[in-house]
Amino acid sequence: SLTVADLVAWTQRFRDLMVEHRAALTELDSAIGDADHGSNMARGMQSAVEKLEQTAPETVGAWGKSVGMTLVSSVGGASGPLYGTFFLRFGASGGDATELDAAALGAALRAGLEGVLARGKAEPGDKTMIDALGPALDAFDAAVDQGLEAAIAAARDAAAAGRDATEPLQARKGRASYLGERSIGHVDPGATSTAYLFDALATATG
Ligand code: ADP
Ligand code: MG
Ligand code: MG
Repeated sequence: SLTVADLVAWTQRFRDLMVEHRAALTELDSAIGDADHGSNMARGMQSAVEKLEQTAPETVGAWGKSVGMTLVSSVGGASGPLYGTFFLRFGASGGDATELDAAALGAALRAGLEGVLARGKAEPGDKTMIDALGPALDAFDAAVDQGLEAAIAAARDAAAAGRDATEPLQARKGRASYLGERSIGHVDPGATSTAYLFDALATATG
């Protein structure tokens, strides 16, 4: 199962990937947005990791609240409140638990997705982070009986496929939607960072 220490390792690994790919994420956002997704995510995740290092969480709920609140308060763009809501709802689903088995992880991820949907009002195919997150969670659920690591690996692969599938879509939510048809032909930055979120989860659990 996934312990709170594993969740902290996930956060650190995601921070590392956001820092490593900051320029590429910003490049994607310069094509269809305002060229700040990489800096938003790297800054927000760096703050989230620093907060976890100051005050170590003891429960899934405390971890999610710490990461989520930090993202909401440190990132001004759309991605801060949306990722923040994801982690807050994930944490609320886990509550006082100190570890998550595959089914509980699936439920927590699903709660996170529903929070993003409620906050951002995006639908599948709108060319947002939802297009990586939704398929990832469906793949997770389909593989959940094979155990935690198999379900995470399935989610990681589906998130990457979902990210790639945003390229031909026309954006209907967020700044990219202002471009109308000119948003077609570019991979969505938020779907790209979400694919990294699942890469990080796969490596944080070995
Ligand atoms: P901003 O657009 O405010 O500059 P970012 O560049 O950090 O914020 O994040 C942009 C990403 O946020 C987009 O690529 C998209 O994936 C995601 N996004 C934007 N609006 C929404 C929404 N309403 N629902 C879900 N995701 C969204
Ligand atoms: Mg932006
Ligand atoms: Mg911005």
